[in-house]
Amino acid sequence: MKKPRFQSPTGMHDILPELAPYFQKIHKTAENTAFFYNFGKIETPILEKAELFSRGIGIATDIVKKEMFVLKTKGGDELALRPEGTAPIVRAYIEHGMVNLPQPVKLWYFGPFFRHENPQAGRYRQFWQFGFEVLGEKSPVIDAQIIQIFYNILKSLRLKDIIVEINSIGDSQCRPYYKKLLVNYFKSREGSLCIDCRRRLRENPLRVLDCKEEKCRRVISQAPQMIDHLCQECHNHFKEVLEFLEEIQIPYVLNPYLVRGLDYYTKTVFEIVSQGESEKRTGSLAGGGRYDALGKILARKDIPAMGGAAGIERIVSLMKEKMIKVSQPYEIKVFLAQLGPLAKRKGLKLLEEFQKRKILIGESFGRDSLKAQMARAHKLGARYTLILGQKEALEGTIIVRDMASGKQDTIKLEKVVKEIEKRLKK
Ligand code: AMP
Repeated sequence: MKKPRFQSPTGMHDILPELAPYFQKIHKTAENTAFFYNFGKIETPILEKAELFSRGIGIATDIVKKEMFVLKTKGGDELALRPEGTAPIVRAYIEHGMVNLPQPVKLWYFGPFFRHENPQAGRYRQFWQFGFEVLGEKSPVIDAQIIQIFYNILKSLRLKDIIVEINSIGDSQCRPYYKKLLVNYFKSREGSLCIDCRRRLRENPLRVLDCKEEKCRRVISQAPQMIDHLCQECHNHFKEVLEFLEEIQIPYVLNPYLVRGLDYYTKTVFEIVSQGESEKRTGSLAGGGRYDALGKILARKDIPAMGGAAGIERIVSLMKEKMIKVSQPYEIKVFLAQLGPLAKRKGLKLLEEFQKRKILIGESFGRDSLKAQMARAHKLGARYTLILGQKEALEGTIIVRDMASGKQDTIKLEKVVKEIEKRLKK
C-alpha cells in the first residue's frame, strides 16, 4: 500500500481508541493511588525554558545534549519540549512558594514528554509518563514509599515478575572522590572502551557504568563501586531504605551499575524492570531517585526530594504481551435502530432522554437498513434494541427487542426510558 503523504512525525504516534482503555486504566490506577497517599495533581506546561533542563538535568547528559527538542520564540527565548517532569515540578514548587506549605509537598502528574531519541522498541520521541514526587523531606522512608507506590501500581495492573533495581550514587560529600577513583580506573583501560564511553569518561564518567556494550561491560564489572565509597550519611540512608523495603516486602536487587544519567540525582536511585526477556530489550518500566541537589542547582534552595516516573507505552506493551485484559470503560446495553426521516427525528430526541437518565445507548443514524443496524447492535453487545420505524414514529410507540431471546414488545414511546431502566436493573 502506498504510504499517505502525511504521517505522524518519526517516533511519535497516535493513541487510537483501542489503546485508550489501557491509558484510562493506568491513569485510574495511578489516580486512586495518588488519592490514597494524598498526592495533589499538577499539570505543568509542555514547554519550559530550555535552561531549566540544561541546568537541572545537566549540560553533559544525553537528554540535554542530544535529545531535547528546542525552539526559539519570536522574542528570542529558547523553549524546550519538556523531556521529563521533575525539573518543571521543582520549578513550580519554588515559583508558587510551596516551601511555605506544610512539608512534604506531594505531587503527581500524567502527561506527554519528548526526547529526540533513535526510535526503537520501547523508545519514542513523544511518550507518556506518570510520576510521583515528594518535596521537602529527606527521610529515607520517603524513598521506600515512592518505590512502594510505583511497585504497587504496576502490581495492581496485574504485572507479575517485576523487580526493583536499586543503588545509591552518594552525594556531594562522597561522589567527587568516587568519581576520581572511577576516572582513574577507566583511564587506565580507555583502549578497551567504546567511543561513546571515551567521551562519557570526560563528560559524565558515571554514565560509563550504564553502557550496554559487551566490551565495556567487561571493564565495568571490575570497576570500583559507589556503594563501597559512600560517606557515613549516605551509607546510613541507603541502609535504612533497604530495611524499609524489606519491611514492606518489596523484592529488590542491588545494581551497582545503575546511575540513571541525570546530574540531579543524589543517594537512592531505582528502576523497576520486568524480568521477562522482551523487557530486557525495551528497558525499565519506571525509574527515579532522590534529588536533594536540584533545589540548589535551580534556586540555591535546600529542597530534599524524591520521586520517579513510569513509562505508559512500556506498561501498555507489557500488558498486551502478557494478555492482560482491560475492561472497556463503558458498556453499551441498549441500541436504537431507526427507519425513515420521522423516526430519525424522534430518535435524536429520544437519545437525549436516555442521556438525562445516564443510560448509554448506541445508534447508527447514518445507516438506513435495519439489517445493518441490528448487526451493529450485536457487535456492541447490546441487551436490548429499540426499533423505531415510520409506523411507530407516527403512532408514538417503539419496539423493544430482547437480543438474547429475540422476543419483541411494542410500548409507548414516552415510557421506553423508564421501561429500559427497569429491565436493565434485573
Ligand atoms: P526516565 O525519565 O528516563 O527516568 O524514564 C522513566 C520511564 O519512562 C522509563 O522507565 C520508561 O518506562 C519511560 N521512558 C523513558 N524514555 C522513554 C522513551 N523515549 N519512550 C518511551 N518510554 C520512555
